[in-house]
Order: sequence, then structure tokens, then C-alpha cells
Amino acid sequence: MIKIAENTIKRLIVYKKELNRLKAEGKKFIYSHVLAALSGSQPHLVRRDLMAVGYSGSPAHGYSVKELESSISDFLCSSRQVKVILIGIGNLGRAIIDYCHKQNPKIAISSAFDIDPNKINKEYHGVYCFHIDTARNYVIENEIKVAIITVPDSEAQTIATALSDAGIRGILNFTPGRLRVPENVYVENADMMLYLEKVIYFVQNV
Ligand code: ATP
Repeated sequence: MIKIAENTIKRLIVYKKELNRLKAEGKKFIYSHVLAALSGSQPHLVRRDLMAVGYSGSPAHGYSVKELESSISDFLCSSRQVKVILIGIGNLGRAIIDYCHKQNPKIAISSAFDIDPNKINKEYHGVYCFHIDTARNYVIENEIKVAIITVPDSEAQTIATALSDAGIRGILNFTPGRLRVPENVYVENADMMLYLEKVIYFVQNV
């Protein structure tokens, strides 16, 4: 498999979002320089990134918005639907479930897991919450590869280790700590305070 740079993947996700928006507005074709401007990218990078997806050349009337969106979408996620689990159905967990379902129909949060008896055996935005002790079997039986962690920081490492052992290969981590996981597990950290502190720094220093 050809290895695609992480920055290319990040840009492709932004292109897809913009193309989706344009599609909803009824736009049929788009030039690479317009997509670049909308995505905060550069025309030569757009053309290079699209080649990675299997698109080449720059058609005279621009790329078909619909075809391009669908190609990028298939490239980023070849499955019809990816099942994801969420651990920790607190305020953040519930908000994420609601948000994800509205954003991308290819991503389905199939189940949630929690330790609090008051939260177990209930549905949140259509997602059923099970006891955390059942997560391992669920992951194995349903061949789940992706998990979102929204438990308190102190619990995250234990959860990440257990999930990795069960076969999880990708974790979106909303806790501030860095997780130690095996090499074959990809972790993306989404520490909101880190982003906020970065914004505040630039507001005060630029
Ligand atoms: P709430 O006020 O609804 O409890 P919260 O966002 O304040 O939400 P947190 O303390 O951040 O709650 O915890 C997030 C969620 O993680 C909670 O639902 C909590 O029950 C759950 N949780 C804590 N420890 C574990 C664990 N070991 N395994 C699974 N879930 C856990």
C-alpha cells in the first residue's frame, strides 16, 4: 500500500467537506484553484493530492464536484459504513454522538460504554450504552477497530490498553493525557484545552 502523508489526509478531509457543501448548494464543477482557495490550500497541492486519490489532469471546465467528493470519500473510507464505539457517555460523549451522526453517514457510533449504573442500559441520541466490562467482547464479536475515549483522564490509559488488547486499531482521545499504546494502534489526541490555549497565545502575541 502506498503511504500517504498525514498532511495530505488532513487536506483531503477539508476538500471533502468543502465539496460536500458545494454539492448541497447545487454547484456542478470546480477548478483546482477555487478548491484550493476554499480549503486554505494551494492549487499545486490540490492537484497533487487529487492524483493521490486517482484523479489526474485538470479538466477544461473543472472537476465534477459530485465525482470528486465521492472519490475522496471512498479513498478516505472504503467501507460503506464504519462502526465506532464511544467510551464514557458524560456530557462530552453525548455531544460527540449527536455531532457525529449529523456529520458523516459513513461513520456510525454503534454503541457506548460506561461504568456508571445510572447511564447503562439507556439510549443516547439513538446509541445504546452498555457496561464497560462488556466492551472487550463487543469489540471482538463486532470486529470494531475504532474507539472514541471520553472518560476522565485518570481512566483513559487503562481503557486504551484494554481496547488495544481487544483489537482496536484507532483511538480518538479526548483526554488531556498521552496514551501509551502498541505501535499498530493510531491515536489522535483531541485535547480542546490545548487548542484553546494555542488560540489564546496567538490572540495575545500576533
Ligand atoms: P456527567 O456529569 O454526566 O457524569 P461528565 O462529563 O461530568 O458527565 P466525566 O467525569 O467527565 O463526566 O466522565 C465522563 C464519563 O466517563 C462519565 O459518564 C463516567 O461515568 C464515565 N467513566 C468514568 N470512568 C469510567 C470507566 N472506567 N469506564 C467507562 N466509563 C467511565
